[in-house]
Amino acid sequence: MAEARIIDGKAFAEKVRAGVAGRVAALAREHGLTPGLAVVLVGENPASQVYVRSKGRASEEAGMRSWTHRLPAATEEAELLALVARLNGDDAVDGILVQLPLPPQISAEAVIEAIDPAKDVDGFHPVNVGRLAATGAGQRSRGLVPCTPLGALMLIKDVRGPSLSGLEAVVVGRSNIVGKPMAHLLLAESCTVTVAHSRTRDLAAVCRRADLLVAAVGRARMIAGDWIRPGATVIDVGINRLEPAEPGGKGRLVGDVDFESARAVAGAITPVPGGVGPMTIACLLHNTVTAACRRRGLAED
Ligand code: NDP
Repeated sequence: MAEARIIDGKAFAEKVRAGVAGRVAALAREHGLTPGLAVVLVGENPASQVYVRSKGRASEEAGMRSWTHRLPAATEEAELLALVARLNGDDAVDGILVQLPLPPQISAEAVIEAIDPAKDVDGFHPVNVGRLAATGAGQRSRGLVPCTPLGALMLIKDVRGPSLSGLEAVVVGRSNIVGKPMAHLLLAESCTVTVAHSRTRDLAAVCRRADLLVAAVGRARMIAGDWIRPGATVIDVGINRLEPAEPGGKGRLVGDVDFESARAVAGAITPVPGGVGPMTIACLLHNTVTAACRRRGLAED
């Protein structure tokens, strides 16, 4: 059997971002509107700082307005809620993203629930979660959809074509950020969806059923080639850093799938890095434009 097609998430994300930039330009031309994204960072988590910087840069590159609010690690929940309330009321702000994780004195749930669902570009607010769960077969959610699973779905459709109807999909992982919304998206596409997790019996056999296998676990190279059905489409969401080979070095990034053994069996597979990762920011921009249009009753595409 031929080796798997390597899904180039970086190139696809560039296309999505170019599409967003085109929509932003059209909104400015036709409606005098520039979508705006506000990102809030509490504390100095180094990974979060990198993410927040790249989100700000990407929104500006797409022609959008962007604001970054940096608050000290000791910020009280009430102060953060006051900022969220201010952003909810600011008409120039179409998207609000509070970077997670938050320091222990702040409840992430309380903050997420305080964001106006119409501006919740992460798609984590219970209203958006509910809208996704209530999406009918063949429909698009009326709410905003979490960026990583939305990006994964775009890659899957690019490989498999627009109809995924009847395919066996297995999602490994049931987090609110990736696994569960991914399962809802695939169900709305009329896949037969199995959600696996740490208590699943004989995970290898469950994975072997999948025409579409989505791994969102956070365990380096857990899914081996012999867990994969020949010809399956494999989407590896995992980002795991291996121990550095030399002291002081930077460990390599790998996914949840053992890429080398999997590529010999799968029909198509995302690499790590360069697969799902770049799609997350592209979908954040996509969601911000969608939010800007929906808030004003404008056509979305
Ligand atoms: P979580 O830790 O929230 O969830 C992990 C899930 O994997 C849980 O449902 C857990 O099951 C399940 N799991 C853990 N161990 C096993 C096992 N041995 N067998 C089967 N299932 C298992 O992680 P996230 O969903 O937030 O993230 C998953 C991965 O995706 C991480 O590597 C993360 O870095 C990456 N990620 C990448 C993004 C991107 O590309 N931009 C964005 C978000 C995440 P249980 O519920 O039973 O504990």
